[in-house]
Amino acid sequence: MTRFVFITGGVVSSLGKGLSAAALAALLISRGYNVRLRKLDPYLNVDPGTMSPYQHGECYVTDDGAETDLDLGHYERFTAVAARKTDNVTSGRIYLDIITKERRGDYLGGTVQVIPHVTNAIKEFIGADIEEGVDFVICEVGGTIGDIESTPFLEAIRQFGNDHRGQVIYMHVTLVPYLAAAGELKTKPTQHSVKELRSVGIQPDILICRTEHEIPDSDRRKISLFCNVPEGAVIQALDAASIYEVPLNYHAEGLDAEVLRAFQIDPKATDPDLTRWHEIMEHVKSPEGHVNVAVVGKYIELQDAYKSMNEALTHGGFANNVKVKLHWINARELSDDNTDETFEKVDAIIVPGGFGEGGSEGKIAAAKYARIHKVPYLGICFGMQMACVEYARNVLGMADAGSSEFRECTDPIVGLITEWQEDGVLHQRGEGDDKGGTMRLGAYKARLEKNSLAQQVYGEVVISERHRHRYEVNINYKERLEEAGLKFTGLSPDGKLPEIVEIKDHPWFIGVQFHPELKSRPFDPHPIFASFIKAALTQSRLV
Ligand code: GLN
Repeated sequence: MTRFVFITGGVVSSLGKGLSAAALAALLISRGYNVRLRKLDPYLNVDPGTMSPYQHGECYVTDDGAETDLDLGHYERFTAVAARKTDNVTSGRIYLDIITKERRGDYLGGTVQVIPHVTNAIKEFIGADIEEGVDFVICEVGGTIGDIESTPFLEAIRQFGNDHRGQVIYMHVTLVPYLAAAGELKTKPTQHSVKELRSVGIQPDILICRTEHEIPDSDRRKISLFCNVPEGAVIQALDAASIYEVPLNYHAEGLDAEVLRAFQIDPKATDPDLTRWHEIMEHVKSPEGHVNVAVVGKYIELQDAYKSMNEALTHGGFANNVKVKLHWINARELSDDNTDETFEKVDAIIVPGGFGEGGSEGKIAAAKYARIHKVPYLGICFGMQMACVEYARNVLGMADAGSSEFRECTDPIVGLITEWQEDGVLHQRGEGDDKGGTMRLGAYKARLEKNSLAQQVYGEVVISERHRHRYEVNINYKERLEEAGLKFTGLSPDGKLPEIVEIKDHPWFIGVQFHPELKSRPFDPHPIFASFIKAALTQSRLV
């Protein structure tokens, strides 16, 4: 039997519901259960693919090509369960499907309404595509209780509980703030939030109380009494030094045991094995030294825009038992004039993915500096594209080399991909096509050149990595770039799309057209990041 845990948030946003969901999943997995994680997002965009990273942080891409909420990244990193298209839905998607059906006449003259049509569609989504053997589905509802737009989702999860009695519990993540003037923690916001939840017919079974200070027993009793939950189900969630500590902290607070009890399962029947989390915390707490990595990006004010990359770099640090210190460099402010001073003290440079011309010259300057000074360089997607433009301009002397993403140029080293193959299926795109959901998205295979750095890093010849891009390095320039020393060491299986480039005469210079950061796990660091940090460590010892 599959059981469902619904997670809602109260009082304020940014309490880390996604992390709570991921940590609970990790704990249930540590007890031998099979878990899936899902997210319901109340906004009206059909998916986050068209949103600016400033609005919504990173867009996380799944193997099957869905552009999803960044919380799915937490889910995958904490569980290693690959997320799918069917694990994230928005109001926009639900309404789009319903309105498309309505226009087709599928409702046969009936009135189409929020209840039952929207709520039924949400319920269908919650229960769909769950394979045999899944013990728990943990389903997070985005937004905060009281938001107008979440109402249909709350109604749907309430109904779902009624439809599947005994198989559903509700967990509410709330804030217990500390008032410095009064010198005490306040439980009233939590009481109000639960009252709001109960007003839509949902009685939480478990409360996760985010707090900066220990919650005294008297306050726990108060919360338990006013919110109608057992005292043991008032889980204190103190701020953690590292996100990877959260599963251990929740376990110490009894969260996993409490969830099982809420389902009438004896927690003693399973023995949690938390070894991997203890090992990760060893790396967090006692690294042997550190490396300095410069991140040259354009959305640097909002680090959530690079969430998975930040985590993958941290994981690369775990693999080498060092701490990775990130130095955020605004690509718009970087040029050949200031690269020397900017990169003087860094051991490696990374240029992450990006869109649009803004900051591109700074990224090109970063690639140039890394090439000339033999500093380890990792270019991800846009970072690879700009490294190729740099090589064409400054090594091959093509002064007007560029990307057709910006404008027409004499040498479009990077151009729009109009056709590609996926398992024998041909995808085609044109200039004027819709922007949403039309990039080359999801996992594609690449073939690596034997004995290349890339192949040594992966230890394999055929790899599969996730993509999210509309442009690609133009294969027609392969020969000229290779002759000049920039090797195309990874190609799509049909040999038409460049996937990896590397500079032969350089200690570590790799550009990848895909996003390896999406597949890195704290307990299984991605080989590209492990190797990149190792190269940074070698570099740090040179200076
Ligand atoms: N803007 C580039 C493209 O669409 C790169 C995208 C990315 O870095 N994810 O191809």
